[in-house]
Amino acid sequence: MYISPKINNMNIQMVDLRGQYLRIKNEIDQALEEALDSARFIRGPIVTRFESALADYTKSKYAIGVANGTDALQISYMALDIGPGDEVITPSFTFIATAEAAALLGAVPVFADVDPDTFCLDPVSVEACITPRTRAIVPVHLFGQSTDMDPILSLSSKYDISVIEDNAQAIGATYKGVSTGSIGTMATCSFFPSKNLGAYGDGGAILTSDSELETRSRIITNHGGRHKYFNEVIGLNSRLDALQAAILEVKLKHLESFTELRRAAAARYHSLFEDIDEIICPYEADWGRHVYHQYVIRIKKRDELTKALTEAGIPYGIYYPVPLHKQPVFGGKANSIPLPETEKICNEVLALPMHTELTPTQQERIADIVTTHATSLIHG
Ligand SMILES: *Cc1c(COP(=O)(O)O)cnc(C)c1O
Repeated sequence: MYISPKINNMNIQMVDLRGQYLRIKNEIDQALEEALDSARFIRGPIVTRFESALADYTKSKYAIGVANGTDALQISYMALDIGPGDEVITPSFTFIATAEAAALLGAVPVFADVDPDTFCLDPVSVEACITPRTRAIVPVHLFGQSTDMDPILSLSSKYDISVIEDNAQAIGATYKGVSTGSIGTMATCSFFPSKNLGAYGDGGAILTSDSELETRSRIITNHGGRHKYFNEVIGLNSRLDALQAAILEVKLKHLESFTELRRAAAARYHSLFEDIDEIICPYEADWGRHVYHQYVIRIKKRDELTKALTEAGIPYGIYYPVPLHKQPVFGGKANSIPLPETEKICNEVLALPMHTELTPTQQERIADIVTTHATSLIHG
């Protein structure tokens, strides 16, 4: 049956940035006015204030604002002096930036498999990737849930390798009572608008509690110099600007309540899909808090479901359809180990709308399409 998108238009969006802005409009507008009035657009007190609020929130000693989450990764790799000939272990099931930033420095990304429940790095696979050239392991806390970090930290000390947490999707998540982003040697954040803590433009941050790495990172973000016109190392120009910092400072104050809204929406999806065997709901590990950057189900025959969702005017996302080891840019370099879970997951994952403004009625409508379709595949 074809259902016209117009008839069923409940204005369901993947992410409702405008709705969320309207919820906090007064505070945002006031913060922007202050930032404009200060006319300190690059560096300055608002950026410093946000950095220290972010460090507090993530329980890290230092937070360094940068231009975006990809730069945060690149600068972290540079601060650890990772370059040509070095190997960096990342999941293959992640956004390109995690590996791209290493490749840009001449390092070789080595792809490990993920756990089929959490979609995060599988430590057994990681250990199989370790060679004398391995310099870092980069766990990605995918879709808002922490990687099982204890086994990764054991490998880190056993082989003397740094750990950089790619925390782009998981700000606010915890692992055994500790905030993600404060567990590894360094961590990176992205403030891309659709992330859980999103700016109204690009932004990112590096987190660390190591003062030497903090200093090195700051120097790199500023053309490799501590003082203007004195350059010690090759760096780049990567800064968080004051307007974005002003917005982020407001939104950070709301992050806990926004996270609870996401978790409540996830709980509603869970109960709507509870009795549907054909749908595998996101797994919540008991080691911490999942912050649901995305609500990702697994389903066989995904193509038929995406067709039904499109016909019903319901948006969805597929993160990620092609694993990194199969991307043309990394193709040709044989992966050192097989990645069976990653290859299976890529064909089955489907992200449903997830944001702070999602209503129960919208979710019932979404679940209706998903469950009708999922069950008809089996019985129809
Ligand atoms: C978004 C994201 C990044 C990159 O962040 P940008 O701010 O877009 O550069 C890196 N890694 C992961 C896992 C991400 O989701």
